[in-house]
Parts: sequence; C-alpha cells; structure tokens
Amino acid sequence: MQASQDCDVLVIGGGPAGSTMATLLARQGRRVVMLEKDQHPRFHIGESLLPGNVALFEALGVREQVEKIGMPKFGIEFVPPDLDDRSYVDFSEGWDPSKDSAWQVRRSELDELLFRNASTQGAVAIEGAKVRQVDFDDEGATVQAVLQDGAPQTWRARFVVDASGRDTVLASKLKSKQKNPEHNSTALFGHFRNARRLEGRREGNISICWFEHGWFWFIPLADGTTSVGAVCWAYYLKARDKPLKDYFFDTIAMCPELHDRLKNATLVDDMVHATGNFAYSSTHATGDRYLMVGDAFTFIDPMFSSGVFLAMQSAFDGARLVETALDRPAELPAARRVLEKRIRLGPRDYSWFIYRVTNPTIRDMFMHPNNNFKVKQGLMSLLAADIHQGWVYRGSLFMFKVVYYFVSVINWRRTLAGWKRHRYNIRDMGQLRGETILKSD
Ligand SMILES: Cc1cc2nc3c(=O)[nH]c(=O)nc-3n(C[C@H](O)[C@H](O)[C@H](O)COP(=O)(O)OP(=O)(O)OC[C@H]3O[C@@H](n4cnc5c(N)ncnc54)[C@H](O)[C@@H]3O)c2cc1C
Repeated sequence: MQASQDCDVLVIGGGPAGSTMATLLARQGRRVVMLEKDQHPRFHIGESLLPGNVALFEALGVREQVEKIGMPKFGIEFVPPDLDDRSYVDFSEGWDPSKDSAWQVRRSELDELLFRNASTQGAVAIEGAKVRQVDFDDEGATVQAVLQDGAPQTWRARFVVDASGRDTVLASKLKSKQKNPEHNSTALFGHFRNARRLEGRREGNISICWFEHGWFWFIPLADGTTSVGAVCWAYYLKARDKPLKDYFFDTIAMCPELHDRLKNATLVDDMVHATGNFAYSSTHATGDRYLMVGDAFTFIDPMFSSGVFLAMQSAFDGARLVETALDRPAELPAARRVLEKRIRLGPRDYSWFIYRVTNPTIRDMFMHPNNNFKVKQGLMSLLAADIHQGWVYRGSLFMFKVVYYFVSVINWRRTLAGWKRHRYNIRDMGQLRGETILKSD
C-alpha cells in the first residue's frame, strides 16, 4: 500500500477551470495538488474565446502569452440559411467599448499554458493521473488516482475541487447530474486548411451559420487552419447512416455559404469528431468539503463561445469560497449560498437565448439588431461575456426580452411554429453513440 500524501486542496482536472483554481489557491499559499488524467498538450474542442476572458488572463499573468498564440477576434458574423443576408456585430458595441476583442486559440496550446502557469505559481500539477475515487469524511477527503504506469496513488485533502469537465467526477458520484430538459444538441467537427475567410479586421471573427438542423461555427485559427463544427439536434446525429466524415461533408453541403468557403479546403488529418447529448447541470455546486467548477458543474450549448469564460470565472469565484471553507468555516454556509447563485448567473443568461434560437423573432433580432432601449448594447455585453456590468446591463437585457415577447405575441403564428419546432428538436433520443468524443470511423 502506498502512503497517502497530504494537501490543502486537491483539484481534479487540469483544463481552464482546474488550472485557474490551482493558480489562485497556490498564490494564497495553499498546498495545492492538481491531477490531470491526460498529458498536455492534448486536444480539446472550444477554441473561441470572449473579451471577458482577457481580464481573467491578465489576473493570472498570462495575457501576453495567450495573445502570442491567438488569432484576434473582434466580433461575430451571423449567416442565415438563405444566402443573401449577413449581420456583423462588434464587441465594442457593448456597454464597455474597451472590451472589444478576444482570441481564437488552439486549446492544446491554451490549456498547456494555463496548466504550466499553475505549477510556476506553486501548485503541484501532475499529468497522467486519473482520479478514480473520492471519499469524504469529517476531516476532508481521500482521493485515489491511478498514474500512467498503472500505479495507484492516494492523497488526503482538506477540500476537493472538481474541475474534471464533462467527465463530471463528483456530480456522477453524488448522482446530482441532470440532463437539461430544455436542450438536446450534439456536434460534428473538424479542422480545415485553406478555407476562405473574411477579410481584413474581420478575418479572425467567428461566423455562426444557421442551417436546417442546427448551426455551424467557423473559427479561424492563427496557424491558418480553420475549425468548423456543426452543432445539430440529437435526432440529426442519431439518423447518421454513413461514416462520420461523409455525414459531416453532407451536413456542410446543407449550408451553401459554408460549402463555398470550404470548396478549396482540405480536412486536416482526415479527422472528424462527434460528441453527443451535451447540456446538463448538477443540482448543486458546493458542499462542506467540495466545489464543482466549469463543465464539472454545468454545460450549455456552445453557441456563444461562453464555456472557457464561464469555467475560468467560476474558478475565480470558487477560489474565494475555498478560502472561506479553509480559514473561516463558520462563514461557509453563507458563502455557499452566494456562490450557488452566482455560478448560475452566466449559464442562465446565455441559456435564455440558446433555448429560443430556433425562434424567428430572435433570429430577426440577431440579423437586424437595433439599439432601441439599448437592447443591442445589452446583447453585445452578453456576447462579450461582460455579464457583471450591473443594472444598466441587466436593464438592457430585460428590454431585449420585452421587445422579444412583444414581437413574438404580434407574430403569434410563427412564434407557435417556432415553439413546436423547438419541442421537436429537443425530444429525447436516448443514448447517442457520441456521448463521449468519437473520431472518424
Ligand atoms: C462542441 C463544443 C464546442 C465548444 N466550443 C467552445 C467555444 O468555442 N468557446 C468556448 O469558450 N467554449 C467552447 N466549448 C466549451 C468548452 O470546451 C468548455 O466549456 C471548457 O473546456 C470547460 O473547461 P473546464 O476546465 O471546465 O473543462 P475541460 O476543459 O474539459 O477540462 C477538464 C479536464 O479534466 C480532466 N479530467 C477529466 N476527468 C478526470 C479525472 N478523473 N482525473 C483527472 N483529470 C480528469 C480532462 O482530461 C480535462 O483536461 C465547446 C464545447 C463543445 C462540446
């Protein structure tokens, strides 16, 4: 039997949430151990960042490093299913014009950079260590992991942070993970060389192209490759009757604009990925001796590229909760209530739009945004992840919803049709083959 090693906090997972948490706690002088099951650099999807990320990188001391690997991104292009219309919005149109840009990044590079930064700041960051079991008791927790050579290793920790992403180690153990009944999407994606991009300052912008069964992302990366993915309803992936790559190309053909941009492009490594059933939440994020952050707590549709921001922001908020748990346990119940509320704020704001994205009224408001009642400013602050702006931002988001409901009622027939379509799209299709990432078959 291997002797267990002691630490203050054990962080499960070395993605953006875990590395952020480990960095912040190590800076507080805690003994932090972060266990990552893979070896960095490792592939991960989720390459489009938001202006809200920039201040977080700054606070971690890695802003310049991220800038070096990133493709500058100033806004979003929306492309409807028909060819003749486009809408371009800039992040600088939000409430804080200084939050005007972010980057598109290769996640293998970003995640490695954040992980190494955590160990520079004093965390013990171990790769190739997969957490298999966590047992809580009155003093803390015993965490058992298996190292890459198969050797078991045990840690004793006063507090455990679950940042294991969609593996949801603690939510699965505690049976607190619930599928989101309001959403049910899947994704097919690959990387292309030689895709036709937008020109000039817009080259690095993300394009969102709608098609009959969902929407596409088109994300230009700094090394010249472009990430392309179809987020589609579960029924569509379930109906797949041919190899993944063929199905992906058939799907691209349903979007004439994208098809045209990719007509001279080649698929990198001939590789297409699929992932399924991906909206869920844990019933709670905190316990007396644990906290779930990032995707380990909740995952929403990636339409607004909010995942990395929400993961890192929840780690910033969570680090304060861990501090309270370790130093002032009497204050923990109140701190838990605050965090439970705050960690849901961003996902709730984004989800309101995601649930209605098939509704023609929302599409119109994205395609022809006007700033009456400052609704465009509110929308752009949300899209820039500037979501803690206070009442001016909240007020403009509220007005956006008022306008939306008003227009929806006036056009009640198409609203009803949109609602029916939404119910049809999100119907339960059972377990999909792509529950975890599938590669080209
Ligand atoms: C199709 C798709 C497209 C997306 N697009 C975007 C986008 O454009 N922009 C964006 O911001 N977000 C996007 N996201 C979301 C984004 O990828 C995630 O929200 C983000 O990675 C969450 O970070 P995290 O640190 O919580 O989890 P992760 O990044 O998943 O990190 C979790 C880490 O934990 C490790 N781990 C898991 N289990 C264990 C274990 N038992 N022991 C040890 N280690 C473990 C994993 O190996 C991993 O490194 C997308 C997601 C999907 C599915």
